[in-house]
Amino acid sequence: MKYFKSLKLAAFLLLFLSSCGKTGKQSIIILETTDTHGVIMPYDYIENEPLDASLANSASYVRLLRNRDNPVFLLDDGDNLQGQPAVYYYNFIDTLSPHFLSEAMNWLGYDAGTVGNHDIEAGHDVYDRLSKTYNFPLLAANAVDRKSGKPYFTPFVILEKKNVRIAVLGLITPAVPTWLPEELYSGIEFRDMIETAKLWMPEMLKQKPDLVVGLFHSGWNRDEKDSSARNRMNENGSAAVAYNVPGFDIIFCGHDHRLANEKFANIQGDSVLILNGGSKSQKIAQADVTFSKNRITGKKRKIISGKIIEVKDFKTDPDFIRTFATQDEAVKKYVNKVIGNSTETISSRDSYFGSSAFVDMIHSIQLEITSADISFAAPLSLPYNFDSATGIEYIVDASQPEGQRVNILKMSDGRKFDDQKKYRVAVNSHRGNGSGGHLTEGAGINSIDLMSRVLSSTERDLRYYIMRSIEEKKTISPLPMNNWKIIPEEWVKAAAQREYVLLFGNIK
Ligand SMILES: [Zn+2]
Repeated sequence: MKYFKSLKLAAFLLLFLSSCGKTGKQSIIILETTDTHGVIMPYDYIENEPLDASLANSASYVRLLRNRDNPVFLLDDGDNLQGQPAVYYYNFIDTLSPHFLSEAMNWLGYDAGTVGNHDIEAGHDVYDRLSKTYNFPLLAANAVDRKSGKPYFTPFVILEKKNVRIAVLGLITPAVPTWLPEELYSGIEFRDMIETAKLWMPEMLKQKPDLVVGLFHSGWNRDEKDSSARNRMNENGSAAVAYNVPGFDIIFCGHDHRLANEKFANIQGDSVLILNGGSKSQKIAQADVTFSKNRITGKKRKIISGKIIEVKDFKTDPDFIRTFATQDEAVKKYVNKVIGNSTETISSRDSYFGSSAFVDMIHSIQLEITSADISFAAPLSLPYNFDSATGIEYIVDASQPEGQRVNILKMSDGRKFDDQKKYRVAVNSHRGNGSGGHLTEGAGINSIDLMSRVLSSTERDLRYYIMRSIEEKKTISPLPMNNWKIIPEEWVKAAAQREYVLLFGNIK
């Protein structure tokens, strides 16, 4: 009898050991990629040059971890459908082939992903199509279907590997409507992050997960933990949720393209690990979690730590590269297609120093497609907050005090400019929604008022209309319109030379 008992005990111990390892512990790894913006392959299709980090490199790291013992949960935090032409091409040009992004993410074996504002920006056709092809759920508990009142995507998911169950709640920045025209998210309402997290936390806890994870497409700023009350619908509400909604062990953030790896105390004094994986497939945020059980007290313990992985330290995965060679070729072929000829050589660089052929080409297209009176525009991808206008003739007098420097002489067609009259103005959606502060802080229009002034918006982005315009014309001769200048001219001359070197280096 005694003998029998100890056999039973041995069997029990064996079971225990096989599920928890020799040490009575179980460790898991959770990885987050975020804001990849289409950096799937190690190639920049816009600049036509190789990149040292991409999902192909991340693939090597993921494979390395999966070849070890501990289960790996792979999560993505959104903003993948805008950026590199690799996604643009499969969003809008080849819509029949399987989408490159979902093929790549399925290949990598993602377990869950949250929707980002730039994924919504691609429009219903694109994200509705993609959500059906992913082998994993798309999360966003606070993107609510207006008709049913239920989440449009999946609110949370319970993932289980080797007997470890983790709950993952997805939230998207609720500020989507301040950037995007409504047709892109028609039927969806974006709700406050705290409210939504409070609503779903008990639902997740009912499932008795070993770990509760937040996967928020929203930025991290620990100073904004109290901002919820005065700033509902906060763009970067991750800190407010981390602080005000107890229950999370780990929160992965995104959206602001920054890095974070810190422990943060919530309203109950419990520690939450905050991780943010940056952008463009350059980093991976990693959480290592070890569960253990005190054999005497039976108390469960979790040891949680975070780190940021430098993706460029890992070579591209040859299998990944081989698998997606066809897609890579298709995108390269598309971006290198000759769409027309220009009789002039144009650059966006001169746009900082006066009337510019490049920006004036954008102006002409904006006026053409909107039939507005005036157009505001900035060079497409240069990181400075500087717009010019056409449709009006004006002088910027740098010697005058702030607020009195711009003097509008007349409309470009010769009509008098009347500052009491209403004009139709063409701007890109970024500016139209107040980004850069030109219309909000500059012109003093509040964001709700700003929305009510929108007469119409285009379906596609500016790059599409520029391409279409060049394709239609076949040959273009872009020249500066010279409808504005900066004075005093001797200041401008000296400053322009100095600033050019500062911005672009010595080569002219
Ligand atoms: Zn982003």
